[in-house]
Amino acid sequence: MSDLNQIPLQDEVLVLGGGVAGCAASIALARKGRHVTLIEREATSRHKVCGEFLSGEALEDLHALGIDVASRGAVPIDYVRLAAARRAAEAPLPFPAASLTRKSLDTALIAEAIAAGVRVELGRSVQALGRTASNVWQATLDDGTTYEAPTVFLATGKHDLRGHMRPKDPQRWVAFKMYFRLESAQAADLERASELMLYPGGYCGIQPVEGGIANLCCVVQRRHLARAGHRWENFLAKMQQDCPHLAMRLAGAEPLLAKPIAITHIPYGYIRRSTEDGLYSIGDQAAVIPSFTGDGISIALHTARCAVAAYLAAEPAPLFQAKLRSTLLGQMRLAEFAADGLNNSFARAVLPFCLRVWPGVMRVTARLTRVAQHAAVAPMQSPAEI
Ligand SMILES: Cc1cc2nc3c(=O)[nH]c(=O)nc-3n(C[C@H](O)[C@H](O)[C@H](O)COP(=O)(O)OP(=O)(O)OC[C@H]3O[C@@H](n4cnc5c(N)ncnc54)[C@H](O)[C@@H]3O)c2cc1C
Repeated sequence: MSDLNQIPLQDEVLVLGGGVAGCAASIALARKGRHVTLIEREATSRHKVCGEFLSGEALEDLHALGIDVASRGAVPIDYVRLAAARRAAEAPLPFPAASLTRKSLDTALIAEAIAAGVRVELGRSVQALGRTASNVWQATLDDGTTYEAPTVFLATGKHDLRGHMRPKDPQRWVAFKMYFRLESAQAADLERASELMLYPGGYCGIQPVEGGIANLCCVVQRRHLARAGHRWENFLAKMQQDCPHLAMRLAGAEPLLAKPIAITHIPYGYIRRSTEDGLYSIGDQAAVIPSFTGDGISIALHTARCAVAAYLAAEPAPLFQAKLRSTLLGQMRLAEFAADGLNNSFARAVLPFCLRVWPGVMRVTARLTRVAQHAAVAPMQSPAEI
């Protein structure tokens, strides 16, 4: 370790994690003239496990940040289709939506952060976050370098820092993402649609993304994956067996990654209860909504916006985190309730039939499981809001 590494680098704000929430917060803070350092462990943006659905709220927030998803080839999504066993039903989405690969979105966000004047440190991993004797936050990186700041935004997404762990995931969820080039008739059928398919122990979504390809993103409880011998090939075959609609979509499809990207430990339903002074948790570090809602990116952007507004208004981080929790609680519980329904075998059997009879249910569910963005931000706004 060189002597240079021993000299702590001082900043007004340190943002740990350069995904959706971390970049959004950094951009907003830099535009308000704050000196921000963003530390991201990946040297370049990579594929992430994500359905890559961008809700109307997410699109609005991205637009406000200066991210033009259309110019990056985002695919408009107009309706949602639900399939289980041998039934399928569809309904138009009650808001504009789109899909864009995370690799493209994260690249755009990092570029915007740099353009806004954020000091972006790529390829640097935070190992520990603690306080110095003078009560300033100190982040220690993998090479021993330390960064200090009175305020930290914790935005490491699915990855927990030691000493700041989220609770265990009792259902032991495992998630996979794979890209496919579909046969032309299937690609045409999937155009502008986001499809949700249900099977025992989980669900998957398939939708088109830029470049004429489709994203298949699945979640499954580990005990169900065990029945497929913990092997992707077996699990993929089992999903298609349980859901003929997926088998139809993937007939003749070409997988585009050598193997799927996978993650474990997804504490769905989690909302951070408390924090310490000067430590604002945002994105998946603040709340983890069930994936079928396609609302995680929107929540990441929303929590970043609220945290920046709170910081600029000198609202203490513990107060911010408590307010955020009460704002998100209702939608989170509803989304969890709906997720439990998707996992229930009887509901799985009858749901598409019910939706065919009353397709409005799907629109209502889509609305209710969304975070009420603008209502939610209001109590946290101040004259200094972003
Ligand atoms: C299966 C699945 C499907 C999903 N589908 C959708 C969807 O279709 N639409 C949607 O809106 N949401 C979806 N989500 C949710 C969405 O992906 C997340 O909610 C969102 O990415 C959270 O943003 P974030 O900024 O908190 O985390 P991320 O975007 O994951 O960013 C965290 C960043 O922190 C970095 N990092 C981690 N640890 C360190 C460290 N120690 N040091 C430095 N950097 C670090 C990472 O490299 C990463 O870039 C899905 C989630 C899952 C699990």
